[in-house]
Amino acid sequence: MIGVISKDCEIDAVKEFFELFKTHWEPFVRNQDYELVITTTGEVPAGLNARLVAVYGSRSFKIDHQLGLEVQTTSQGGRLEYDGTEFPLYGAKSTFQDTGTSFLLDKDAGEVVGCEVRKPEACFVRVGYDLFQEISVLLSKGQPPEYASTPTTEMHISILRSIMTRAGLPFVEVLPAPSGYDFVACLTHDVDFVGIREHKFDWTMLGFLYRALVVSFVMAVKGTLSWSRCWTNWQAAFSLPLVFVGLKDDFWLEFDRYMEIEKGLGSTFFFIPFKDEPGTLRSSPAPKRRAAKYDLGAIKGEIAELLGNGCEVGLHGVDAWQDSEKAKRERDRICEVTGQAEVGVRMHWLYFDEESPSALEGAGLRYDSTLGYNDAVGFRAGTAQVFGIPSTKGLLELPLCIQDTALFYPDRMNLSESDAMASCRHLIRQVAKYGGVLTLNWHTRSLSPERLWREFYERLINEMHASQVWFCTAGQAVNWFQSRRALRFESSPLVGQGLCVVSDIYAETLPQFCIRVYQPASLPLRESGFVDIPWNGQTELTFPRTQHSEA
Ligand SMILES: [Zn+2]
Repeated sequence: MIGVISKDCEIDAVKEFFELFKTHWEPFVRNQDYELVITTTGEVPAGLNARLVAVYGSRSFKIDHQLGLEVQTTSQGGRLEYDGTEFPLYGAKSTFQDTGTSFLLDKDAGEVVGCEVRKPEACFVRVGYDLFQEISVLLSKGQPPEYASTPTTEMHISILRSIMTRAGLPFVEVLPAPSGYDFVACLTHDVDFVGIREHKFDWTMLGFLYRALVVSFVMAVKGTLSWSRCWTNWQAAFSLPLVFVGLKDDFWLEFDRYMEIEKGLGSTFFFIPFKDEPGTLRSSPAPKRRAAKYDLGAIKGEIAELLGNGCEVGLHGVDAWQDSEKAKRERDRICEVTGQAEVGVRMHWLYFDEESPSALEGAGLRYDSTLGYNDAVGFRAGTAQVFGIPSTKGLLELPLCIQDTALFYPDRMNLSESDAMASCRHLIRQVAKYGGVLTLNWHTRSLSPERLWREFYERLINEMHASQVWFCTAGQAVNWFQSRRALRFESSPLVGQGLCVVSDIYAETLPQFCIRVYQPASLPLRESGFVDIPWNGQTELTFPRTQHSEA
């Protein structure tokens, strides 16, 4: 077990950290035996019974003198390098003299930020920043777009995990992906438009004509768009009068095409609750073009068909982010149209501020999936795992990872399709390595002229199929992580003070957990140093103490 000595202000971050790195821990108790004690206060109690002590913090502590270490420099933020991978640091950082046992370096200065010191009573690890302050910043403020592609929160978990495995500590972890899967994927769609017919002679239509006729032509001349796609856009533009009078299908109406592409993968559609309401940006009105032109009442048939096909319908919130009352009104509208009792939300244009989580939670929304970027793709909170938003009682965030408009819009990342695929492949590799949910947002209208992002989207889904992926709705992904959060570790007298994993929520319909046992006592050890056990949570799972920890 891990015992944690932290500052009072860090306790929420500590708790959340151990929901993401799901292993047996408790706030430090005197006279208790631990495999590992983590301290961020510098306090290392006398007579400590632990095999390993990890001291995190940027200040110079008394224990540093006992370990023969000296803080050399202290600075704010910067880039670190661990095992060949670079990641950012957001708080204060200290470096130490080279002891020859360093495992973590300052990327720019090459100085030591993390090292090991062996003492007869225990092995010590000294890291020159505060782990839980970093986690707190990552989960609340998030990372700037330039570090979007780095799963920084997962790097912190990874570093601690390898500190434990290097020391040969026995421990049990519940992995952040179901047993037999590399990761979870949620295909989601923000429904900003359900057809171009509603946009007769407005700015959306004029913008479409300009991009379809002029921008496409310029791009084709420059060689950044094929002539065949340019021609497709031109044909669509010239067919517009026929679409308006009803002689041709509305090419922006895409629900059927999404169902054909996704073939029962269980996608999630976020709908705007009210027609012609652009909402407000705090006290000033939001731009008029933020308003949806469709009315939910007129597309009840389409919504019923989506639900019948195993899709989920959520709220694409307009004002929900700034006010609980407004959030409740928007949520109720979705419930009324769908007959659902539970609704998740993603905000239109990703409007969000520090008060949004409590507004959404106050309105009884099931989860949020707004935290991502408009102008980047990747890991805003440094993780793809569903996490508990700090400052709420338990509102869960399904972080948004890849957004079509972020990849392709000229004023955003403006990537070519090959560069966009390279970015997405990198993110797929990261999620396959660290677990979590790859959440995509492909807007309804993105398959059609003038965007024509269907082929890319299909290739992206194929790319994901190369891994073992559990495709599910946003709500199912949140439910799986919710039941993982509900798992508890207990010391069990039945197996000689060994460990017992208990689940209070047993959901037969969800995939099994993967319980990873490091240095197992009763199971044959693999070369990797761990054994994986699939577990459905129905009955308790017990592990005897290892010989190591008995010694
Ligand atoms: Zn939107």
